[in-house]
Amino acid sequence: MALIETEVIIVGGGPGGSSCAGRLRKYGIDCLILDKEEFPRLKLCAGWITPRVLRELDFDEAAYPHTLVTFKKLYYHFYGRPIAVKTRQYSIRRIEFDNWLLQRSGVPVHIHQAKEIRESGGRYIIDNLFSSSYLVGAAGTYCPVYRTIFQEARPRIKKLLVTTMEAEFQYDYRDDRCCLWFFDNKLSGYSWYVPKGNGFLNIGIGGKLLSLKGRRGNISGRASIRDHWRSFREKLNRLDLVRDFDFPARGCNYFLHHAKGPLRMGNAFIVGDSAALASRDMGEGISAAVRSGILAAEAIARQAPYTPGQVGSYSIFNIIGGKRDRGLLFLANHLAGRHPARVAKKRPSPAFPEKFSLSTISLPLAKTCLTRPSSSLPSNKL
Ligand SMILES: Cc1cc2nc3c(=O)[nH]c(=O)nc-3n(C[C@H](O)[C@H](O)[C@H](O)COP(=O)(O)OP(=O)(O)OC[C@H]3O[C@@H](n4cnc5c(N)ncnc54)[C@H](O)[C@@H]3O)c2cc1C
Repeated sequence: MALIETEVIIVGGGPGGSSCAGRLRKYGIDCLILDKEEFPRLKLCAGWITPRVLRELDFDEAAYPHTLVTFKKLYYHFYGRPIAVKTRQYSIRRIEFDNWLLQRSGVPVHIHQAKEIRESGGRYIIDNLFSSSYLVGAAGTYCPVYRTIFQEARPRIKKLLVTTMEAEFQYDYRDDRCCLWFFDNKLSGYSWYVPKGNGFLNIGIGGKLLSLKGRRGNISGRASIRDHWRSFREKLNRLDLVRDFDFPARGCNYFLHHAKGPLRMGNAFIVGDSAALASRDMGEGISAAVRSGILAAEAIARQAPYTPGQVGSYSIFNIIGGKRDRGLLFLANHLAGRHPARVAKKRPSPAFPEKFSLSTISLPLAKTCLTRPSSSLPSNKL
């Protein structure tokens, strides 16, 4: 069979792959996407996106054919304490958003699961079917481009592996707030309740795999991800947020951001989850996938640099950030007991921490002090 030849092959048509494809197409560079699944396809994800994602994508809300839900506050809970954070965030359904993004990129998509990748005569050959001068790995945690080319130079960091359980289903929900609960039952991570458009609801939990009881046997006092899932469902039932839960849940793993190792080797690139770029504090991976996809395209089109440092490693700035809030952030750090002169250099502590500490929650707490008391603050029952 004759090889299908192109300038750039992108393996994976999620937000990382399709953002890369969309930008390459703007430069008039010939490319194609391989995805093992036919779109629209299901992707486990809470579907929370920040304004930054919309900016990076030149997102025109009026032209989006699906529902984009806007949250003017996020309702955090730390050790059972409710904190409302003023912000502007959004939720989408990945089954809709990813398909829209892929179509919008306007590049040919082949339904094909990439397996074998080799280099020959300065070109990348995939499964003896496709050939290109450049290769972009955008196939998530188990990306074959990562496995074949990058694994040694950019090894994954086990302690940054997050495991999740999640369900998205139609539900006649009455509470349309986006709620997040941190560190319940010593979970090294958080659980969420994210209302979506058209009566869909997404609930889930995520935590650092190594801090959970599971494959490494019984760690005393630690629960498994399934134990956490069970107590989370009970909690939602108790709070009357989701009654009589009998929706199927699924699990999925991915790695949080780290800076060690290249994202480009020769003419091969990795983006999004395949490059381990999700934010350290919230596990936000859509923004990282979109940004890294665009940066990889820029590197191909005009030899621009492409490093992990260009992809932000914290979400907090996308939640309380923006120029308007710089002063607030500064003040928040000050209120949290940090010396103002050192604030600029200091990074917020991750929400998927090695150990829990008060500093983990100091930023949102301080921010709350700065927002006006709200009558719509959720009752303490949460
Ligand atoms: C439960 C859960 C909740 C999350 N919630 C959020 C959230 O609310 N907000 C947020 O920002 N991030 C969230 N994330 C993280 C986010 O989903 C990912 O970081 C993001 O999807 C990464 O995008 P990507 O394009 O790199 O990979 P993906 O979206 O995973 O896309 C990879 C694509 O590659 C394809 N593929 C895989 N293997 C092959 C192969 N061998 N050949 C061809 N194609 C292949 C797949 O079919 C898929 O379409 C969550 C993750 C999980 C697990």
